[in-house]
Amino acid sequence: IYSTLMKESKPISVHDPDVPACSNTPEVSLVVPAYNEGENIGVAIKTISKEMRSLGRSFELIVVDDGSSDNTVEVAKAYALQHPVRVLCLSRNFGKESAITAGLAKALGDAVIVIDADMQEPISYLKIFLEHWDQGFQMVYAVRAHRDDESWLKTWGSNAFYWLLNQMTTVPIPPHARDFRLMDRKVVDALRALPERNRFMKGLFSWVGFKTKEVSVVIEKRHGGASKFNYRRLLALAFTGLTSFSDFPLRVWVGIGCCISFASILYASWITARTMIWGSDVPGWTTITVAVFFLGGVQILSIGVLGEYLARIFSEVKSRPSHIVAEEFSYLDSPHTTQP
Ligand code: UDP
Ligand code: MG
Repeated sequence: IYSTLMKESKPISVHDPDVPACSNTPEVSLVVPAYNEGENIGVAIKTISKEMRSLGRSFELIVVDDGSSDNTVEVAKAYALQHPVRVLCLSRNFGKESAITAGLAKALGDAVIVIDADMQEPISYLKIFLEHWDQGFQMVYAVRAHRDDESWLKTWGSNAFYWLLNQMTTVPIPPHARDFRLMDRKVVDALRALPERNRFMKGLFSWVGFKTKEVSVVIEKRHGGASKFNYRRLLALAFTGLTSFSDFPLRVWVGIGCCISFASILYASWITARTMIWGSDVPGWTTITVAVFFLGGVQILSIGVLGEYLARIFSEVKSRPSHIVAEEFSYLDSPHTTQP
């Protein structure tokens, strides 16, 4: 029986299926999430590669195609003939948070830098990031120096969001931080070990901790195309951030319930006393109407908050992966490989 079992059991693999075997591991991996960035991805690859070569660092570029419907993949693949580019094609548009997660899972470098494909992040900061990493910082991230280029609604909304988030969470999440950041291998491994599917990356980056350095960056204009984040997407992201990093919205109802009950007791005492002293003249339909509407609103709101958390638990319990990689293309497979 033993020998049959031994024959049938599969050999144990110590190799992580996510990370391809590679003898020449690059020092730095640059993860570039790209969704319909055909206009920008070529320039981004060229510029980043040039900068990394001039800095004398071995590197790989991981372009994560987040279900683009334009020629992003074709352009990136064409550049892989001259530059150390790996292209990960997700099976559909999963969103930037999932695209970053996919890139981090495949990165081989000792340090990983996340950078947008639209050239909004000044490339010169790669040098500064790497210098801080050399000095021992394990996470170096960019914070917007100002938001003057945005509409007042976006700026106001983001100020309000970060204020609210930081009132509620125990882990401080720096306001106006970008996903543009360098992470040491240790940080990347810590992030990869987090199993949650509703991923609010800016929160997770703070949650894992490590020795961190903030760098103020003036963001440039998009090279081409338009932002992929409309107000609906930003609102959805804000809800994910608030619900995954705080249980305050769930708990606040205990306080609100107590206040309303206390006020009701006071009011009931007053009415009782008044009726006993002056008798009843049957007034109060306004009070009843207001109370019914007010309490109805409060109850529906609190059920809504419960629903929001329940929906997140539902999606976590289903345990679907945060993304699916449909196809992977690597410069290492190319006959004209240019090694980093
Ligand atoms: N992006 C993505 N998936 C999405 C939306 C955006 O991978 O569903 C990428 C996009 O291609 C870009 C980066 O995320 O490289 C930042 O997006 P965008 O420039 O639209 O955001 P903004 O700079 O306006 O915040
Ligand atoms: Mg952008």
